[in-house]
Amino acid sequence: MKRFLIAGNWKLNKTAKETNLFFTTLQPLLSPAIQSELLICPPFTSLPTAAKANERMNVSLGAQNVYPKSSGAFTGEIAPAMLREWVSYVLVGHSERRTLFHETNALINEKIHALFKESLKPILCVGETLEERKQDRACSVIGDELEQGLKGVTKEQLPQLTIAYEPIWAIGTGETATPEIAEMMHAFIYDWLVQHFDAPSAEAVRLLYGGSLKSSNAKPLFQQRHIDGGLIGGASLEPRSFIEIARIADQIQK
Ligand code: PEP
Repeated sequence: MKRFLIAGNWKLNKTAKETNLFFTTLQPLLSPAIQSELLICPPFTSLPTAAKANERMNVSLGAQNVYPKSSGAFTGEIAPAMLREWVSYVLVGHSERRTLFHETNALINEKIHALFKESLKPILCVGETLEERKQDRACSVIGDELEQGLKGVTKEQLPQLTIAYEPIWAIGTGETATPEIAEMMHAFIYDWLVQHFDAPSAEAVRLLYGGSLKSSNAKPLFQQRHIDGGLIGGASLEPRSFIEIARIADQIQK
């Protein structure tokens, strides 16, 4: 049985001071203990503060981005080894990076290999636009993102990988995929992994749903066979709403 992963993506939000306040407010909410794994991905500048606050708690930390080189003339970028001092997870290929910063599947693939080399755990984000869904191309778009993003990845590396299915039309829009749509897409990703690797390796990969996830819609999504947690933007900024989602995950037995 997989442990649920409840991951918060803070995007461009929270100063170090606000990060400290978040963790101070979070601490009493962690009792009674939460069974699901909690993960927060703050901005780079908040990582030392988050790590310090976290010495008293058991919350995993992640980064929102990485550059796939280890050093050199890459102004403004952060290398995997630099992140390794602070985090265990790194988001890769979030739709905002793909669309606003023109990240290609080839670059995303480079990042995944660079992270594995430093024993960091990538969370590969995939998802289709509304137009692609209307054209009945959702599965082919996600198949391409998996094919190119995971090129050269071995089945031995799969237990360190997480995949987040985030339909672009549901991110930050208040509109969530129905549990049926989400499960269909998660089952597609699972079957893709079985076909390209094998069933035990596919079973080792946690599949997160992301897109306007909140406590009011989490339960039927988490009850689906192939949904192993959530990647949460807006609702992860407030400790109570984040923890409410984790408590819902804790109640679900699969
Ligand atoms: C995200 O940033 O990955 C996300 C799913 O955001 P939101 O929950 O705000 O839709």
